[in-house]
Amino acid sequence: MKKKFSYQPQSAWKKLNTPALRKKAEALAERYIEFLSACKTERETVDYICRRLRQEKYDEKFSGERVFRNLRGKAVFAARRGSAPLHEGLALIAAHVDTPRLDFKQRPLVEQSDVVQAKTHYYGGIRKHQWLARHLALHGLVVRENGEKIPVSIGEKPDEPVFCIADLLPHLAQKQGNQKLNEAFEAEKLNVILAHSSSTGGGNEQQSEKNENSVKEHLLKLLHAKYGIYEEDMITAELQAVPAGPARFVGFDKALVGGYGQDDRICVFAALEALLRAKPGARNRAVIFWDKEEIGSEGATGASSRFFEYCVENLLPSVSPARRLAEVFLNSRALSADVQAALDPDFQDLHEKQNAARLGYGPCFSKFTGSRGKYGASEADAEYFAFLRGLLNAKDIPWQTAELGKVDQGGGGTVALFLAAYGMRVIDFGPPVLSMHSPCELASCADIWFAVEAYKAFFEA
Ligand SMILES: [Zn+2]
Repeated sequence: MKKKFSYQPQSAWKKLNTPALRKKAEALAERYIEFLSACKTERETVDYICRRLRQEKYDEKFSGERVFRNLRGKAVFAARRGSAPLHEGLALIAAHVDTPRLDFKQRPLVEQSDVVQAKTHYYGGIRKHQWLARHLALHGLVVRENGEKIPVSIGEKPDEPVFCIADLLPHLAQKQGNQKLNEAFEAEKLNVILAHSSSTGGGNEQQSEKNENSVKEHLLKLLHAKYGIYEEDMITAELQAVPAGPARFVGFDKALVGGYGQDDRICVFAALEALLRAKPGARNRAVIFWDKEEIGSEGATGASSRFFEYCVENLLPSVSPARRLAEVFLNSRALSADVQAALDPDFQDLHEKQNAARLGYGPCFSKFTGSRGKYGASEADAEYFAFLRGLLNAKDIPWQTAELGKVDQGGGGTVALFLAAYGMRVIDFGPPVLSMHSPCELASCADIWFAVEAYKAFFEA
């Protein structure tokens, strides 16, 4: 194709230009919707990934051609051997499996004015008002003293109850309406209603927690009957309130997917699809799916841990004996697969439009992240960026570039800098998302399709 003198990003929809291709893209989006609806927590996502890897003959023994390792059900590494030696470098895609949510506190239960609520501590960047007056589901894990694990998932099936945080009625919200958003919605009021009746039925006139007939006592009996747990078990549990219900197509044309947790499960889904579907080739391939990105990547299962390094170290003896890890890393190419904020039709002035991501223009490169003078950024070099651009152009895969918001206004970070620390070439590259970090994030079906295509092309290069 002849190059034009000027550059404009290409609409991804224009490239889905046959009915057959559109059908395929819709079928992929349907599978993506199923994945999003089933995987609401990092543990559920890692379970899904491991299940699919096992189906495709990936093994936890690190000697074969396809291997994977699951770290405590919260992070997972998978690799597929190529014909080239490992010291020539990996093609690596990194994404994160955690999403903003409301975590139950260690002692969550409080009873006040005839309801029992769970006190929460939010995880990651949320806008608190978005979590009020909506159906919430409860996901997580209770572990007994003897180590027995009791998985919890309630509020997703149509016949299951959901949970809810009450919001103030407009009639009494006059004062709140004049407050700043951050002051109007307090974290200590993000209390999830769990129950309302006492065992004798109706309200609890005594309003005393110690009362045998209290709502809390009744709830504890119900929890014991359903899960065999006591209040003390909740102290060590990981219980997360998340938006209830499945992800859905949005719009008459079904061209968008609306659902919780697309940052960054859209990249997790696309990277896994690409790993499983890419044709075998020379370069060794890997994916790493980390936890804890939304709270700064600290912790054993986050990107700042040594887990990834240990996995590659284990790969080395069978693939490139007598070679050093440093060689593998320095020769590796990586994509930090994370979403970019799409140009918001109603808040366009917050973006610098020429350098903003647009829905439906393909996955988006961010050469650097950081804020205020690229502070804290991992910046990709021109050579690597140009290589990737050429790779996608050769396959006619649409792509775009973006910065997060206007200079001195936006900013943010991804896991790119943790990979850059090994000296590997890395750039942020993922689909744009509208309403990011909200209970209903929006992504374009065309971008989902081309994210998979782009990641596949990256592995096959
Ligand atoms: Zn993210």
